[in-house]
Amino acid sequence: PDTVPALEVRGLVFRYPDGHRALDGIDLKVERGERVAVLGPNGAGKTTMTLHLNGVLRAEAGEISVGGLPVREENLKEIRRRVGLVFQDPDDQLFMPTVREDVAFGPANFGVRGAELEQRVQAALEAVGMAAHAHRSPLHLSGGQRRRVALATVLACQPEILVLDEPSSNLEPVARRELAEVLLGLGGTMLMVTHDLPYALQLCPRSVVIDNGRVVADGPTEQLLADAELLAAHRLEL
Ligand code: ATP
Repeated sequence: PDTVPALEVRGLVFRYPDGHRALDGIDLKVERGERVAVLGPNGAGKTTMTLHLNGVLRAEAGEISVGGLPVREENLKEIRRRVGLVFQDPDDQLFMPTVREDVAFGPANFGVRGAELEQRVQAALEAVGMAAHAHRSPLHLSGGQRRRVALATVLACQPEILVLDEPSSNLEPVARRELAEVLLGLGGTMLMVTHDLPYALQLCPRSVVIDNGRVVADGPTEQLLADAELLAAHRLEL
């Protein structure tokens, strides 16, 4: 039912093996169709949190559910389909000889075959404006194009929530703008980690600020970014 949030994180605690408490009780609820930016200074725990959403890292305490399904060992395959993680470095997601094969890899891994697989690949590449490049090697694409193909590899799995880690980092202004247009055109639920505050404002009506492994602010992006004290306290630079 529609009352089930897309994502619910409660009391998430995580310590790296060296004892550093990167997450210190994260609480976050995202409703279906919401687009939420995750802001915060370097080392705040943003990336560490995203790696818990699909079970790459296992929390020491706390609970996560995705569309009502708990992130637990026995559910990991379905959780990984539901949570579409786009890493900061697209090269972490592109390893096949052609764009088409990279985009087909995820859905094929979830058992999609034949005409449906081709249709998914085509739709994902069209959504990111890369259909004309299906038969090229990802190695020969620009940084912005690789970002969009990495996004397509995730879209082809039809995730219920898209989680993007620093999507605009290291992009030229044109590529940054093209990616924003693609993301705005997608619809659906999105969680976007970013240091790019104008990008958060453009793409995400709501933002949360994480610092020291905790959520320290949560509200309309416009309102949070207008709060000079909040920005200064958490080393956020417009
Ligand atoms: P950034 O904005 O710089 O990407 P972040 O908010 O994503 O930062 P994380 O990468 O989640 O922060 O890191 C949170 C904390 O955990 C930091 O203090 C970091 O140094 C530490 N950390 C990250 N990875 C490891 C690791 N493999 N072992 C030990 N500590 C780590």
